[in-house]
Amino acid sequence: MQTSLFVSTRCPECNGSARHLEGAHTFTCSFCASVLRCQTEGRTLKYVISPRLERDEIVVAFNEAFNKALPNSVSTSGSAEVSPCRPGRIKTIYKPFWYCKGMVYSCHSSGTKNGLDARAWSHTFEANSSVASALTTLGLRSEVLEADGFDSEQFGADDIVLPITKSKEEARKEAVAAAEWGVENPGWKYHETTIVGERFVLLYYPVIAVEYSDKEENGTTVALFDGVAGTGLGKEVYNKEESTEVPGNAEQEYRVKFVTHRCANCGHDLKPGDSALFFHCAECSRLWLLDGDDYRQQKITLLAANDGFKGAYIPFWRFELSLSSKAAGLELGRIGDLAEFMRMGRHTLRDEAPERPLRFFVPAMLAPNPGAVIKLAARIGTFQKELPVEPGEVAESDDFLNVSLPVQDAKEMLRPLIFLVIGRIDREAVKFYSDFEITVAKKELVWYPFEEKGAYLLDPFHNYTFPRRSLVEG
Ligand SMILES: [Zn+2]
Ligand SMILES: [Zn+2]
Repeated sequence: MQTSLFVSTRCPECNGSARHLEGAHTFTCSFCASVLRCQTEGRTLKYVISPRLERDEIVVAFNEAFNKALPNSVSTSGSAEVSPCRPGRIKTIYKPFWYCKGMVYSCHSSGTKNGLDARAWSHTFEANSSVASALTTLGLRSEVLEADGFDSEQFGADDIVLPITKSKEEARKEAVAAAEWGVENPGWKYHETTIVGERFVLLYYPVIAVEYSDKEENGTTVALFDGVAGTGLGKEVYNKEESTEVPGNAEQEYRVKFVTHRCANCGHDLKPGDSALFFHCAECSRLWLLDGDDYRQQKITLLAANDGFKGAYIPFWRFELSLSSKAAGLELGRIGDLAEFMRMGRHTLRDEAPERPLRFFVPAMLAPNPGAVIKLAARIGTFQKELPVEPGEVAESDDFLNVSLPVQDAKEMLRPLIFLVIGRIDREAVKFYSDFEITVAKKELVWYPFEEKGAYLLDPFHNYTFPRRSLVEG
């Protein structure tokens, strides 16, 4: 379920009007090629979709919905017994939705077979359900939605901006339930769904409310229309106490600004990348963490590359951890423990020192192909190789991919990853999956060298090749 959503931008450098795909905090101006960034002051990104219906179209839609059965003024069928329903005041209600997207991993075991389903996923949920109950999601639309950065001063006297009544935490719970929907199977002895790297954006969607007097109801009734598609959304009795009639939701001053995105040291444009958090300057080779609206310099830890390395450094979160399960009565803290428990472990891990701690690497990227990401991580995790850290210099020509998965989100991927690495299907393993806990002793961002082979990247330590586009868009 993917809804295309584009956001309009006024470029602060060239004043050109560009558009970029929703959710991207950093992007390139299509006119002057400046790299731009949404400035949110650390708050949730908010977009607003403007209504496409003109006043005349609303009146036509209203008459079609309410006066279809009535004779028109030049009717020959005799006198009209019912007076036509007249549209009153027209307002635009901006209904907020949480727009969530992320990578979904569903693991299951039937006792004879294990499965892992990985997919990119997005969904919208009402953030206020007091109005337009017929509109519960914005998913599955044929039209491309065009949005603008939210500006609390853009609204007029006939606009109503509904407040957020459902918190991000509630939306997150709903997101997990929605991602799990339809994947359950009674034959499964274990199953678990995880959303990794979920991003939440607020989307204000226009609902046109036409007031009219309905004889069946006391007070004012409003006929509601989808402000983009024009379809009717039924009628609702207008409760003045519940709706905020404050234009622009005055107590919540908010405006999305677009600013240039440059290295804080040398002023060179930083490479844009969807919802990236860490940026590497290709000019002076400094690494920046974007923290709210501040750029903080970070130290770079590299894994040793071969001499004459040509390729890309991919960021990984490296976790040193131990595992424990009460149900299976197991503690896995060392490579020797994993060798005993993992499928083919004694064979696969026979050359690794058994007393070394367990290490797992999670690509620090919200990638277009979540299945490829976890396979890559499982490949590295299964072999538990000692990958040497290199204190050496970073060459200025090196290609560094942006970090778009924060460490707490990468941690979420550990459960499906460990499920995949263990790979066993017997009863003891199912017990382990059902309750195992992860204790992280150390976590660090490291840059892993991948050699470039045309459109593919090669992991030089594991001799594993995969398409670059499964990790990076474009
Ligand atoms: Zn520009
Ligand atoms: Zn720089």
